[in-house]
Amino acid sequence: MLDRPQAGDETAQKYPFWPERVYFEPGALDYPRGKALYELFKEKGLPLKMTTSHNRVTGIPGRTAREGFAAAKRTLVLAVRRSTTFQSCKPSAHYQLPLATGCPGQCRYCYLHTTLGRKPYLRAYVNLEDIFAWAGRHIREREPETTLFEGAAVSDPLFIEPFTGGLSAAISYFAGTARGRFRFVTKFTNVEPLLPLSHRGHTRIRFSINAPEIIERFEFKTPRLSARLNAAQKVIAAGYPAGFIVAPVFLERGWQERYRRLFDLLQEHLPAPPPGLTFEFITHRFTLRARSNIEEIFPDSGLDMDTEKRQFRYGQFGYGKYLYPPELINQAKAFFMDTVGRLYPEAAVEYFI
Ligand code: SF4
Repeated sequence: MLDRPQAGDETAQKYPFWPERVYFEPGALDYPRGKALYELFKEKGLPLKMTTSHNRVTGIPGRTAREGFAAAKRTLVLAVRRSTTFQSCKPSAHYQLPLATGCPGQCRYCYLHTTLGRKPYLRAYVNLEDIFAWAGRHIREREPETTLFEGAAVSDPLFIEPFTGGLSAAISYFAGTARGRFRFVTKFTNVEPLLPLSHRGHTRIRFSINAPEIIERFEFKTPRLSARLNAAQKVIAAGYPAGFIVAPVFLERGWQERYRRLFDLLQEHLPAPPPGLTFEFITHRFTLRARSNIEEIFPDSGLDMDTEKRQFRYGQFGYGKYLYPPELINQAKAFFMDTVGRLYPEAAVEYFI
């Protein structure tokens, strides 16, 4: 699945993702987490480099776009977050919670092709206490309203857990707030460190799922559906509010049959839904920037990105997006609302876009 240390290495169990090279911002070594990680990677013999800015990391190898992309996915940057204001995060939350960027997965359609470009290295912040202090300020500004933070806006953040413990720290932080709530979404399954935490129901963990055929065709270096559903069962058993995101919903020929099968499998794993179960749906969309990166890195991706078959819309960050035509989206919305309503009448559909 992911890039792991050599078989037999005792670190393989502890670190489902293992980088090939690591960069440190000099300031990261002023924090205990940064220092400890430097010692860990040095002991394991990884090439360690310093970078003056976590926004411009140079020296990632690769003769072709595809090689550079693959090398970046195995490059970890330990960084210090300096910006004290957080970006908005519609439709899932009020703000992004910046714990990390990037993801070791290689989904062909990934939205990070737009935001992170051709060398989407992985970045994890070590100054978590600063980040939570800034989150506290954002919460206070909106009181008495509750403020919701999304931990997966620009990352699948489970990869950082064995390194910085960022998600555990966030879950514990939000458990102690009266008006702050946290949520993140993942395709990964290394949830064990999160299970014993006292979360007080203030963190919602959602799993990104899709029809098995879609996972096979497009979601490389990610766990299969059954592993994701098993991980979901574990977090539900640990009392976390939970949910599923079906994204992207591909509306190609035969989509109803494909997604009917997905919900059959979901029901096999989850015949009795937990209280407060949520669903989110995002139909497939792409930007021209993502299309050009995907076509260069994965000319054989098999993604249908014909703009003639799509409607054009401006997105929240100024990128124009190509969506399915409105009639098709409405048809899909009716299908999924009906499916959830029949199988999980107590569950809430938070949005369908
Ligand atoms: S798991 Fe999510 S963030 Fe990671 S490559 Fe796939 S779509 Fe992108």
